[in-house]
Amino acid sequence: MSMPLRQSLKIGAYLMKQKALRREKFPLLVELEPLFACNLACSGCGKIQKPADELRRRMPVQQALDAMEECGAPMVSIAGGEPLMHPQIDDLVNQLVARKKFVFLCTNAMLVRKWWDRFDFKPSPYFAFTVHIDGLRERHDASVNHEGGFDEAVEAIKWLKARGFRVTTNSTFFTSDTPQNIIDVLDFLNDDLQVDEMMLSPAYAYEKAPDQEHFPGVAETHALFSKAFADGRRKHWRLNHSPMFLDFLEGKVDFGCTAWGIPSYSLNGWQRPCYLMADGYTTTYRELIETTDWDSYGRGKDDRCANCMAHCGYEPTAVLATMGSLRESIRAVRGA
Ligand code: SF4
Ligand code: SF4
Repeated sequence: MSMPLRQSLKIGAYLMKQKALRREKFPLLVELEPLFACNLACSGCGKIQKPADELRRRMPVQQALDAMEECGAPMVSIAGGEPLMHPQIDDLVNQLVARKKFVFLCTNAMLVRKWWDRFDFKPSPYFAFTVHIDGLRERHDASVNHEGGFDEAVEAIKWLKARGFRVTTNSTFFTSDTPQNIIDVLDFLNDDLQVDEMMLSPAYAYEKAPDQEHFPGVAETHALFSKAFADGRRKHWRLNHSPMFLDFLEGKVDFGCTAWGIPSYSLNGWQRPCYLMADGYTTTYRELIETTDWDSYGRGKDDRCANCMAHCGYEPTAVLATMGSLRESIRAVRGA
């Protein structure tokens, strides 16, 4: 795992504390959605098909801070929608950083340079932009349905790095991708753009996404990633995932979903059971934990989970399994 040392140490200390307190369920990272509106309309997106009145709503900064305080998670990924369209997004980020939360601001990057003068972001080891890049130019532009999207995202990454910000990326892969697509985009991000870390995900089959034909099944995901990671390439890339989660994507190990580890908080409240599915909402994280039948979710238990290999369900399982194994802990520290 190529997580910075400060972050690794703080997350390790947080996990040890949960163990000492004998907490069975606790959040590692919150998927925070302070708005649903977006300036793009990607074909695989399951987040922007809301009624107009919902798309107009913005979460007050204090509400987001209170949710983070109540759950106690050390990390937060701010998504949406496009978070840069939230008028107080810089205030929210700065206040979370002041509370020493590790903040990842997920963006399609179209507004970074255009609206830069509106923002008051400051570089910090606790703050990273996470830019959505699904492939090289043609592939990415098709994925986000926007010609020029790739070029603007690349310019925004250079712009942010030149101003001292940490920049990570997030890439989602579909059945229309080949192992070579994955290799090409990761080589480009790792070696040419030199982003700090990269995340990847097989696309989740959102019921409402406009393109229903290109969501990969489990066997397709295994084939895609095992070929892309072959010949030692996996070790070369600065991937922001635990080695066990990458083994899981390749099909070398299998384990269950731990959705309570990466819960989702949106304008509607804490979403049951995860970022990808919405079986109702609760007002507090505690209520979410206590009133959700966690054993009824995951592959083999709920049809909607059948093809899910998303990090929000399986990265926490990998992290907890790593913590419980000396061999895996050493492997994670070495980034093997
Ligand atoms: S940029 Fe993100 S939120 Fe916006 S449409 Fe694309 S996937 Fe959905
Ligand atoms: S497997 Fe877990 S993370 Fe995936 S959709 Fe089901 S509950 Fe959510």
